[in-house]
Amino acid sequence: MQEKLHLKQHPGIDPPNFSTKISDVGDGIVYLEDTYCYPRGGGQPGDRGTISKNGNISKMNEVLPGEKIIHPVDQSDIFRKGDLVTCEIDRLWRNKNTVMHTAQHVFSAIANDMYGAETVGNQISENNTRIDLWFPDRDIFDSTDILNQVNSIFKNGADVLIHEWSREEILSHENMRHTKFLDRIPATVEVLRVVEIEGIDLCPCGGTHVSNVSEIPSIDIENVRSKGSGKLRITYS
Ligand SMILES: [Zn+2]
Repeated sequence: MQEKLHLKQHPGIDPPNFSTKISDVGDGIVYLEDTYCYPRGGGQPGDRGTISKNGNISKMNEVLPGEKIIHPVDQSDIFRKGDLVTCEIDRLWRNKNTVMHTAQHVFSAIANDMYGAETVGNQISENNTRIDLWFPDRDIFDSTDILNQVNSIFKNGADVLIHEWSREEILSHENMRHTKFLDRIPATVEVLRVVEIEGIDLCPCGGTHVSNVSEIPSIDIENVRSKGSGKLRITYS
């Protein structure tokens, strides 16, 4: 069984180079016995980097989710099942996505606290993040108010903690957010990863996070536009 080591690495910055074995090779993809790579998901882009074997290096393109994590490579023909390989994750790329993803927790939590807004979608891109929010009353949204609130949390800092909790603990916790998607996780998965930003947010999440939100620089809202009834798409950098 493949070890998904990104779930064990916290804070999720500076992922290590790691050696492992190729467990299978497909057309343009390889599977690894263990991996620290973050696979695209929850609006956070997957890792990229290189995989090498005895001096032969292949570019690793955005890592994708699957029952076993998919590592797309430019040259799958240089790899055979059982090969010992070294994987190097692009740390700058990962660190930036980790910062942006943790920022999104705070933004979504504060939008929920201030306006009762639900985050119904989000996507981290090269230079910005967009969040789709559904509001009970979107007219009360004020981009300056939320921006000040979010940036003051980044300035003051709050620790980010990772917990492993059972479904029951998660569903019965009064401050838990985003529990709707738990239905999509197979019942055989009994223990789930919960991310707590102390005093700010508590929700199940498999993404990568900084250790304290003071590591996040202040954000700027670039754009707010309507996405239909009750919904706004907010883009910040
Ligand atoms: Zn997260």
